[in-house]
Amino acid sequence: VSGRLDRIRELLEQHEADSILLTHPAEIRWAVGFSGSNGLLCVTRESAHLITDGRYTGQAAEEVRSAHVHIPGHDLVGYIAEKHLLGSSCRVLISSDDVTLADHAKLEEKLRGHTLVPTSGLVTRLRGVKDESEIEKIRAAQALTERVFDHILPLIGPGVTEQDLAAEIVYEHLKGGASAMAFDPIVASGRRSALPHARASTKPFASGDVVLIDMGCYLDAYASDMTRTVVIAEVEQGIRAAYEAVLEAQLRAIEFLRAGVSTRDVDRAARSVLAEHGLAEYFTHSLGHGVGLQVHEWPRLSEQVEVEIPAGAVVTIEPGVYLPERFGIRIEDLVIVREDGCVVITRTPKELLVL
Ligand code: ZN
Ligand code: ZN
Repeated sequence: VSGRLDRIRELLEQHEADSILLTHPAEIRWAVGFSGSNGLLCVTRESAHLITDGRYTGQAAEEVRSAHVHIPGHDLVGYIAEKHLLGSSCRVLISSDDVTLADHAKLEEKLRGHTLVPTSGLVTRLRGVKDESEIEKIRAAQALTERVFDHILPLIGPGVTEQDLAAEIVYEHLKGGASAMAFDPIVASGRRSALPHARASTKPFASGDVVLIDMGCYLDAYASDMTRTVVIAEVEQGIRAAYEAVLEAQLRAIEFLRAGVSTRDVDRAARSVLAEHGLAEYFTHSLGHGVGLQVHEWPRLSEQVEVEIPAGAVVTIEPGVYLPERFGIRIEDLVIVREDGCVVITRTPKELLVL
């Protein structure tokens, strides 16, 4: 985490503020390495203070080097005021993305004498640029997910249910060292694959089914995320054509992506390929998202969002088409954005796999 507080202090300069109060566990973890779920981090121009509760005494002492650790044993915000941990700060940045209106009212009341300045996406954007140690962790999480994929493939066949497979996915991830799943695995077969966020059901797989599998885990705090779509036994012609179109769209987006490209344009690069195949109306979600300490992070790769993607961002590229009552196809890889292009982290093959 070295250097990260300096980057936060640059934000203070840019926003003419004296301090920032971080409330989101992932932001605090990013800033000082603390992995507890309850804490506040005050960063002023001169100092940094982590305030947490008694459950985390040992953990905070072990994990946090760059901030003073406080365990007040009572209301954390009150303690900040009492001990003047924000110093003589006039303007204190807070993130309106994470603080509820109720919490904001409480902060205003307890931190009287400071002016709270609501901001959006500040530390989120810093976190969007990954350093090499973070990229290594994302690679390791993704490698685990790919080992799990190899393990479950032979299990897919007539009679086995979506839930059987989802259970196996969770078990293998945890056994492989994951601390948690990044989200409930999506296993959707046959017509259910046309629901982009279908939960695994008791439906058994059948010959001719498309099976869409989307899964990811947290390993060493960092997330993985991958989708593959396979077919059981025989492939209907329409499915193969749609699969080839989605793959072409995915490859086009990967070819197009490099530092400085806008989120909107990379989404459009994929969308235009699907339009050439008459499938654009079935691509009903955005192209991808950042991945890091959270599985869904800034930046969102969407037609609705115009953001320049920085070098060092790790994002998913996951176009899909969903033909109602017929089938759905999605292909999702993780990529690292570099100055001159992007590097695909995911190694699982993408050619249509017929089991
Ligand atoms: Zn996914
Ligand atoms: Zn994703």
